[in-house]
Amino acid sequence: MSDKKQQKVQEFEYKAEMKQLLNLIVHSLYTHPEIFLRELISNASDALSKVRFDQLTENKTEEDGGELKITITLDEKERTFVIEDNGTGMSEEELIANLGTVAKSGTLGFLQALKEQQPEKGGIDANLIGQFGVGFYSVFMVTDEVTVETKADDAQGCLWRSSGEGTYTIEKIDREKRGTRISFTLKEDAKEFAEAYRVESVIRKYSNFVDFPIYLDNKRANSITALWQRPKSELKEEEINEFYKFISVDYQDPLDHLHLSLEGAVSFKALLFLPKEAPMDMLYQQGALENHGPQLYVRKVMIQHECKELLPEYLRFVKGVVETEDLPLNVSREVVQNSPVMAKIRQILTTKIIGWFESLAQDHPEKFRQFYKAFGPVVKIGLNTDFTNREKLIELLRFESTATEEGEFVTLREYVERMVGDQKEIYYLSGDNRQQMLSNPNLEYFRKKGIEVLLLADPVDVFVIPSINEYDKKPLKSIEKADIDFKAGDEEKKDTLSKNMIEPVLRLFKDTLGDRVEDVVESHRLVNSPVTLVGGKDAMDPQIEKMLRMMKQSDMPGTKKVLEINPSHAVIKNLAGLCLLNENDPLIRTTMNQLYEGALLLEGSLEGTADFVSRMNDIIEAATKQAKS
Ligand code: ADP
Repeated sequence: MSDKKQQKVQEFEYKAEMKQLLNLIVHSLYTHPEIFLRELISNASDALSKVRFDQLTENKTEEDGGELKITITLDEKERTFVIEDNGTGMSEEELIANLGTVAKSGTLGFLQALKEQQPEKGGIDANLIGQFGVGFYSVFMVTDEVTVETKADDAQGCLWRSSGEGTYTIEKIDREKRGTRISFTLKEDAKEFAEAYRVESVIRKYSNFVDFPIYLDNKRANSITALWQRPKSELKEEEINEFYKFISVDYQDPLDHLHLSLEGAVSFKALLFLPKEAPMDMLYQQGALENHGPQLYVRKVMIQHECKELLPEYLRFVKGVVETEDLPLNVSREVVQNSPVMAKIRQILTTKIIGWFESLAQDHPEKFRQFYKAFGPVVKIGLNTDFTNREKLIELLRFESTATEEGEFVTLREYVERMVGDQKEIYYLSGDNRQQMLSNPNLEYFRKKGIEVLLLADPVDVFVIPSINEYDKKPLKSIEKADIDFKAGDEEKKDTLSKNMIEPVLRLFKDTLGDRVEDVVESHRLVNSPVTLVGGKDAMDPQIEKMLRMMKQSDMPGTKKVLEINPSHAVIKNLAGLCLLNENDPLIRTTMNQLYEGALLLEGSLEGTADFVSRMNDIIEAATKQAKS
């Protein structure tokens, strides 16, 4: 070895989280060890995409490196595995940043997901790994030591080596070719991945759509097919499903797909998918809003992995590919954002996608229901952001109601069609869940009259539904507001307190509750309950109020409520009797406080139950004492 070639091997230590991650991969991930192959191929393909993109936009030629490709070389006897690409390669800094640190939030997200999935189920599903951008390390499922030789344009070659324990090393090497070569010896229990037929079947399963050739022991192993370019009639369901899994890193088939081929003011082709379930990251990752949208291709070249400009935010769960000839290849992100072509594509896509939902609702109600359960809360946001399509989105809304079974839905159209008698308004009630809502005393009147009430259990509803104002000229009203017109009901007022009997009850109620309520009035809506709380005309929906309080995490005082009392209820009648005998009887105030807090409890807004229970005990004591005497 000449002096010049005297190499220094530098050792680096992984950060703590990284050690934790590697430890988990080595010891707990074992349900799908073949995933390592998908991850390595996918990284190689990304590196190749970048080169192809640069070549096309900077008019570089293919002179260095030749055909862009991935090669895999196996040696069954030695149990070795080598995967090489002539993609971008990495400089020393890039190696450290990409393979040595947890600069990416992905690692932590992954650890979190692992912890949630872990024990009982008998191991962790390695499928998870790709979703969090830590895929490279899955290689430690099948080997004890990995060597990465890599070289970027205008940088010195480097050799990275690690056994996935605490450290890795880097040394400078003389490498001529741009690109990356990853090599390792397979563990005994992973030796199947040195067999060509096994590797080939994994490639066909996970990586058939990689749009660079993959050569396995010098034989072509994948078929490059731009699926969306082919006529609908030629596409097989299975192929489409595999493609979906490939681009979305979902392990399930899609719920449905839409294949578009449009020519006109702008021309584009698209293959779009609805996942079966809301992906985990949509629920808890902050970045979910940033990273969404279909892949954008221009003339067969992938321009952007997740092009959020293609769709409005409320359709961010739609996956797929869109390819157009109408954008220049060298589009920068800024151009993508501001181009009128993009705006046009987005507009057409949005219309088509909403049409897709409509036809699912019509022709495949079961699918639509599944879709709505998973993504309804996201789509609803469109009502307040996409005024062009607002009317159509309103038609897509679905609700449970007092007339549906649990889990069944009604549309606003259906609601209006089955409105009874001279009902002029659409009624709704909001709450945390169906059971809680059904026990709300404010429903009693509606139940008795056979009037359907929509039950809004999705937290998004209370922000969206009031903004509809009216549907088919019928105003939407919360049944918890004081200003509902209960004109009926008088016909059976016989068994109720007279005005002068109620008066002292109302007065003492007001006196007892003081400024805890806005007012205490006689109720026309109650049937079986003694009291209920309703919002004043301008009051906020109690659900919104609860949410605001939660968000601010402070004791923001709630808006005051009106307490309605039921003059035909035995408890209220008894109270009237007690008032007549002796207004100072302490049982009166105790009972009144108890009734008020009971109403709060039903509404879900009673804070602290100690007083409630001790008061209840007082009342029980009084009741049992009477029984004894
Ligand atoms: P992800 O690919 O999701 O970002 P990985 O852990 O699989 O996460 O890879 C980390 C990073 O290492 C990649 O983002 C990429 O920058 C770099 N990398 C991995 N493999 C290659 C490769 N074959 N060529 C160039 N860069 C690579």
